[in-house]
Amino acid sequence: MTATTTAFRAEQAPCGRIVDGEHYQDGDEECLVTERWYYACGCRSTRHEYHDGSVCRKVVRHDGTVLADEFLAEHVP
Ligand SMILES: [Zn+2]
Repeated sequence: MTATTTAFRAEQAPCGRIVDGEHYQDGDEECLVTERWYYACGCRSTRHEYHDGSVCRKVVRHDGTVLADEFLAEHVP
């Protein structure tokens, strides 16, 4: 599967700053989709989507603080 990298401008980072950054997307046999956002201030965000529809999301602020680390299962009511 091919990886794609897309630059973005003036997006709101998890810390609240408006910065430029890069969005990176790929996938493999374990994850259907892996998305990563890298912000110019150092914040980063990762999202994994699995074949069963569940989603794992992690958001880390530029100072290393984990703002979100959650697993969202598609089939949970
Ligand atoms: Zn930041």
